[in-house]
Amino acid sequence: MPFESVGACRKALLLVTVLVAAVLIAASLAILLALMLRSAADNGSESSYRLPTDVKPVSYALTLAPFIYSSNPGDCYFTGSVSIAVEAVNDTDMFKLHSVRLEVPTVRLRNSTGGDVIVDKIEENVEKQWLTIKLGEPLRAGETYTVLIDRFKGKFVKNGKTGLYLSSSYSENSTEYYLVSSQLEPIHAREVFPCFDEPAMKAEFNVSLVRGREFTALSNMPIKSSSSVPGNTWFSNSVEPKVVIKDDFETTPTMSTYTLAFLVAKFESISHSDSKGRVFTNWLSPELVKKSNFTLSVAAKAIEAFEKLLNVSYKTNITKQAGVPLLNFEAMENWGLIIYQQNILMYNENTTTTLSKLTNALTVSHEIVHQWFGNLVTMKWWNEIWLNEAFSTFYSYLGLEWGSESDLDSHFVMFQKYLFDMNFERKRYKVHPIQMDVSTPTEIDGIFDYIVYQKGASE
Ligand SMILES: [Zn+2]
Repeated sequence: MPFESVGACRKALLLVTVLVAAVLIAASLAILLALMLRSAADNGSESSYRLPTDVKPVSYALTLAPFIYSSNPGDCYFTGSVSIAVEAVNDTDMFKLHSVRLEVPTVRLRNSTGGDVIVDKIEENVEKQWLTIKLGEPLRAGETYTVLIDRFKGKFVKNGKTGLYLSSSYSENSTEYYLVSSQLEPIHAREVFPCFDEPAMKAEFNVSLVRGREFTALSNMPIKSSSSVPGNTWFSNSVEPKVVIKDDFETTPTMSTYTLAFLVAKFESISHSDSKGRVFTNWLSPELVKKSNFTLSVAAKAIEAFEKLLNVSYKTNITKQAGVPLLNFEAMENWGLIIYQQNILMYNENTTTTLSKLTNALTVSHEIVHQWFGNLVTMKWWNEIWLNEAFSTFYSYLGLEWGSESDLDSHFVMFQKYLFDMNFERKRYKVHPIQMDVSTPTEIDGIFDYIVYQKGASE
C-alpha cells in the first residue's frame, strides 16, 4: 500500500475514532444530565415524597400550649404558633411544609423588610403529609423570608404514641392527671407543628412551652426565662387554669426536627454533676424518681467514656433524662432531653435482675452515644438510618466497658452473641439489606428493625 494511501487511511481512522469518542462523551453527558434532572425533579415532584429544596429553613420560633387540664382526655388538645426564617435557594413561586392532622388557619409570609408576600393558595396533600403554599409573587434566590403560622391546633390521638401525645400520669382524690410528651422520630414532628420535616433540613429552634403552674415543662435546652400569662391567652374556652407559665428555652444547636422534644408533666428530678461541672438530671413522677440513681450515674460515665473514645467533646452542658409511662421505643435520643420508658430508668438492688440491669444500662449508653451518632452527625435521608442505629448499638457496649461498669461488660459476648441470635431465630425477622431505599411514611416508619440495629452493629 502506497505511503499516501496509508496516510489517508490513518487520517480516516483518526477521524472515526474522534467521532466515536465524541458520540460516547455526548451520550455519557446526556445520561448524566438526565440523571441529574431526574434527581432534581424528584425532590418535590408530584410522585416524590420529598420536599422541594428551593426554600430551606434557617431558624424556628415555636410556642406550644398543650391543654391537659381536663379529667376527660377527649377535651384535651394542643395549640401553638410558629415562625420560620427561611432562605430561598432558587427563585420559586411555591414551597411546601409538612403538616399532619393539624388545623392550620392561615399561612403568612414576610420579606426581609417586613413587607407581606402575597399567598395565593394553600393546598393540603394528605397522602404526602404536606401543605403546598402557592405565592402571588416569586421568592428570589438568596433572599430571606419569614413564614408565620399563628394558632394552629391539633388533637391528641387516642392511644397515640407519636407526635405530641397524652398519657395518664396518676390519679389523686379521684382526679386523673395527664402528662404530655413527644416522639418525633422519624417523621412525626409534622404532627406537632408545620415544619420542614426531613433530617437534612436542619435549623436552630427557639422553643417555648406553656404549662400549668404546678407542672414542669422540659425541652432540649435549659430554660432561659419564664413569665406568667392569663390562661385564656392560649386556652380560649377554658375556665382553668386562670394563669399559665410560658417557659422560653435557650436556642438549640442546628439540628434535625426529629431530635426535638417536648414534655409537660408533674415531675420531680434528681441531679448529678460530673468533674467538668456538667449537670445530669433524671425527671420522673415523684414516686419513681428516687429509684433512678443508677441510670443517672451510667449516663454521666458513658459521656466521659465516649469523649475519650471518639475524641470529640460533648456539646451539651445540661443533659436531661425523663421517664414516661408510654413510649413507642424503649427510648429516644432527643438532643439534650432523652425520653425513656420509665421502667428503664429504675433500678433496685434487691429486685432488679442482672439482665434488666444490663439491658437498661445498655439502653442509656445507646441513647447517650446517639448525641454523637445521629444528633451531631446526621444521615441525609432515612435509607442511611443504620449509620445512627448500628453505630450506637455497637458503641453502647464500649460505653459501659469504658465507663467502668466492670460487672456488666463481661456479659457482652453472651448477650450479643446468644441472646440476640436466639431472638432472631425465634422471631424470624424479615431479612433485608442494612441500607434500604425508603420513601413513603410507612416505609420510613418500618425501617427501625432488628436488621438495622443488630445486624448493622455486627458488620
Ligand atoms: Zn437508637
